[in-house]
Amino acid sequence: MMQKNETAIVKIEDIGVNGEGIGKIDGYTLFIKDAVIGDVVEAKVMKAKKNYGYARLMKVITPSEYRVEPKCMFARKCGGCQIQEMTYERQLLFKQNKVRSNLERIGGIAPELLEQTMEPIIGMEKPFYYRNKAQFPFGTDKEGKPITGFYAGRTHDIIANTDCALGVPVNQEILELVLDFMKKYHISSYDEKTEEGLLRHVLIRFGFITKEIMVCFVINGTKIPHSEELIEKLIKIEGMTSITISPNRKRTNVIMGETYEVLWGQEVITDYIGNVKYQISPLSFYQVNPVQTEKLYGLAMEYAGLQGQETVWDLYCGIGTISLFLAQKAKEVRGVEIVPQAIDDARHNAEMNGIKNVEFYVGKAEEVLPEYYETYDREHPGDTARADVIVVDPPRKGCEESLLKTMLDMEPERIVYVSCDSATLARDLKYLCGIGEEDAQESRRKYKLVKWRTVDQFPMSVHVETCVLLQRRTM
Ligand code: SAH
Repeated sequence: MMQKNETAIVKIEDIGVNGEGIGKIDGYTLFIKDAVIGDVVEAKVMKAKKNYGYARLMKVITPSEYRVEPKCMFARKCGGCQIQEMTYERQLLFKQNKVRSNLERIGGIAPELLEQTMEPIIGMEKPFYYRNKAQFPFGTDKEGKPITGFYAGRTHDIIANTDCALGVPVNQEILELVLDFMKKYHISSYDEKTEEGLLRHVLIRFGFITKEIMVCFVINGTKIPHSEELIEKLIKIEGMTSITISPNRKRTNVIMGETYEVLWGQEVITDYIGNVKYQISPLSFYQVNPVQTEKLYGLAMEYAGLQGQETVWDLYCGIGTISLFLAQKAKEVRGVEIVPQAIDDARHNAEMNGIKNVEFYVGKAEEVLPEYYETYDREHPGDTARADVIVVDPPRKGCEESLLKTMLDMEPERIVYVSCDSATLARDLKYLCGIGEEDAQESRRKYKLVKWRTVDQFPMSVHVETCVLLQRRTM
């Protein structure tokens, strides 16, 4: 066992789930943030447990072949990126392996089957400047000047930086302009401790296809003094389409207020994924990496294998992004989502695109679908509810068992599972495929894994999306 403050030289042999380097000294495991697999580093133990400890990277003694100079000078401190110092190729391999290992360990899927069914991870050609959305907090530096940037990992300390390498370049132009304006008129930044100060956050959105820009100021108040001058400056930026304020006077970690008000221009910006058009308000959810989202939805579409005659359910549909994508090739699509405003957006987006074969339901997927299934014969005597394809895209906690059970009861030809957390994905696949339960009910063994593929929606971070195709077994 090692002691706190002890230093050691260690070779990094593995990557942890949060991207940290893992090395061993006489069987004692050290987790070292910012160390890259293949590095030999000097590390200092910060927290020592019986069999493992957490250590700080003090010095890279021999850099790994996978180590690169980070693009951003704050890469290590900032909470936004975890693995910017790793080559992009190695990041992709790490993510694919992470998913594969969860599917094997938690899902109990045989390694040979995983190997046969895996398709190679879809990475980005240019893994920087990919985000269409950023929310920058305001703060104050030691001299009392306003700053903006990102929170350091696990804290609310702001690292002053207007040049984030994941966001679009126009962010910097907007942020510098806002900071100059704040200095000129002594406009204060909000302080979480005292709950005083005006500007809390600025949300910037950029339509990658339309080039439309949205700026929304989240303020602890009702208006920004001298806002005419701020607007006058902002609208000189090409593509400026919507400038709004969103009052938020609550002591909360939730960034946006509950409403917003237009200062200049439109309420919304428009953008496309593939040939489907979406309107995005300051409060709407919208995927942050449009280039990879198109690839992910394309994959979901391919796995759904639509010929035009299918009834498809899209559970956890958000603003209907996947639903509208699939509706182009299906007979009908039914989307289910818990947030009512998202469903308003979904219906609006369907109408705007002239897509008529979709229907949206507000509610919990684990309630709407079972209820639909169980009450179906009231209106259709002697018949049971069926679906050809069921798509799910749940939040990190995955699906409730009651929903998975109804999915099995409905016997769709194919199930397409889109997941942002491979641990819960693995748990749900285990259930759907009836793995490890020899005496599982018949229905639990009806599905088999056909294909799976990871898509890198978030380069430089440890997050990854996975798309899985399950097919009903023919008995
Ligand atoms: N498919 C969408 C959104 C996926 S994010 C897209 O790609 O844009 C997951 C969505 O599930 C969120 O919109 C969240 O509000 C919703 N959600 C969370 N719990 C839910 C539940 N129990 N039932 C239905 N929707 C839920």
